[in-house]
Amino acid sequence: MSLLLTKYPMPEQEAAVRVKNFEEVALGYTPELAKAEAERCLQCKAAPCRKGCPVEVDIPAFIKEVKAGDLDGAIAKIKEVNSLPAVCGRVCPQEEQCEKYCVLAKKGEAVGIGRLERYAADTARNKGETITAIEHTAAVKKVAVIGSGPAGLAAAGDLAKKGYKVTIFEALHLPGGVLMYGIPEFRLPKDAVVQAEINNLRKLGVEIIVNAVIGSTFTVDELMEEEGYDAVFIGTGAGLPYFMEIPGENLNGVYSANEFLTRCNLMKAYRFPQSATPIHVGKRVAVVGGGNVAMDGARTALRLGAEHVSIVYRRSEKELPARLEEVHHAKEEGIEFQLLTAPTSVLGNEEGWVVGLQCVRMELGEPDASGRRRPVEVPNSEFVLDVDTVIIAIGQGPNPLVQSTTKGLETNKKGNIIAIDNGATSKPGVFAGGDIVTGAATVILAMGAGKKAAAAIDTYLQGKKECSTNAHC
Ligand code: FAD
Ligand code: SF4
Ligand code: SF4
Repeated sequence: MSLLLTKYPMPEQEAAVRVKNFEEVALGYTPELAKAEAERCLQCKAAPCRKGCPVEVDIPAFIKEVKAGDLDGAIAKIKEVNSLPAVCGRVCPQEEQCEKYCVLAKKGEAVGIGRLERYAADTARNKGETITAIEHTAAVKKVAVIGSGPAGLAAAGDLAKKGYKVTIFEALHLPGGVLMYGIPEFRLPKDAVVQAEINNLRKLGVEIIVNAVIGSTFTVDELMEEEGYDAVFIGTGAGLPYFMEIPGENLNGVYSANEFLTRCNLMKAYRFPQSATPIHVGKRVAVVGGGNVAMDGARTALRLGAEHVSIVYRRSEKELPARLEEVHHAKEEGIEFQLLTAPTSVLGNEEGWVVGLQCVRMELGEPDASGRRRPVEVPNSEFVLDVDTVIIAIGQGPNPLVQSTTKGLETNKKGNIIAIDNGATSKPGVFAGGDIVTGAATVILAMGAGKKAAAAIDTYLQGKKECSTNAHC
């Protein structure tokens, strides 16, 4: 049997069409394409692909069901460990995770594991899944989950399935974390996918209280001492944007990517005036940074009507941290890449509006602590990019509110909560996971952390055995 060394292509909207709308770019496999792609899987006994998945989805088992046309069987297999497969199938950096370890990747292209996961999840959802609520007795223990991003949702789902009464407290007016406010509609549909997956949690019996800012509405100590919660999981993410600390950053027309994307995704500014929130995008936009957030900002600016959008990144293309697929889509859509380039100041006019971005060219020197070659300024290489809008996407850190209002909760120098592998923190009964512990990472890593913490919370609440090396478990 000869091996087919390329993936079956994903049907997509044409670049020229999609830059004018916010509809999803990738349209998903048809049943025929899914079956054909599933047939590429060799059903390896050792299944090396599994070790690349942070939650170890049983990949060959679910693909076997897709191949046999048993989508209920496929989704049941995936959901043993992954409660958000329609999300992960779309946004996981598969080329760095499961697909990186696929045996086919040694000779050609890996099996499209993410595409098949998405297909199984979408088919099951469109068919209508049956979810039964968990019955609770009055004596059941209560767990509070702070934050409704992937970490909080995964922890809440697992705890609810174990029979606990779970309440999620979310600061924003809609649950989902970055899945709602950060990743754009054209990569991850909000109503059809994110809210549909969250509604499955509600059906399980998880209560979600929105507009509840913990540290302000209640503190963690109040939740435990006055509101009767037996344990708390903190999954508050990394939502505080970093700035470059260069002159001109406070000019009109400079956005953090966080604000720009939140206005567009969560507040639906792209529908203004039908929605209440406006967004101002000029004709020429520079997005500073090279990760997924930068690609999302650039592609969103284009869809909002910018005529020319550049990514400004201080290293070379090889070091771009964004998913390959996002870079590929950004290029197809006409985004320009100003690589080996670093901004030195934002230039403004007398009215305080951006009129340019002063930059210098860089070259790569010796590797730094992260192992990547350090960018070094090329002497006398200053130039000005002609732009009227600048979006800064150079990273995010933890919001300090919960940490600063919780007695006995240890944090590191960056303000992240210190937790051991199972999520146990320095405070008895309080667990944490996701970006608030690791710093900005990925959806599936946050989910994995939420699941581990749910298992540890169960152990802690049942007083079963030592659940960690931390003193309180
Ligand atoms: P979050 O998703 O940040 O959720 C935290 C939640 O806690 C938020 O809803 C917040 O409002 C809430 N909260 C914060 N403080 C409080 C409080 N005091 N009280 C109550 N609630 C609070 N990862 C990928 O794998 N693939 C991608 O393609 C990808 N693209 C990305 C694009 C963008 C624009 C961004 C910003 C991130 C992207 N990521 C991607 C990263 C990924 O989304 C995050 O790693 C992941 O969402 C982290 O999950 P989390 O649950 O830890 O936190
Ligand atoms: Fe791959 Fe992500 Fe699915 Fe795991 S959850 S199998 S890493 S796509
Ligand atoms: Fe299938 Fe690739 Fe996993 Fe082998 S390594 S089981 S071919 S997905």
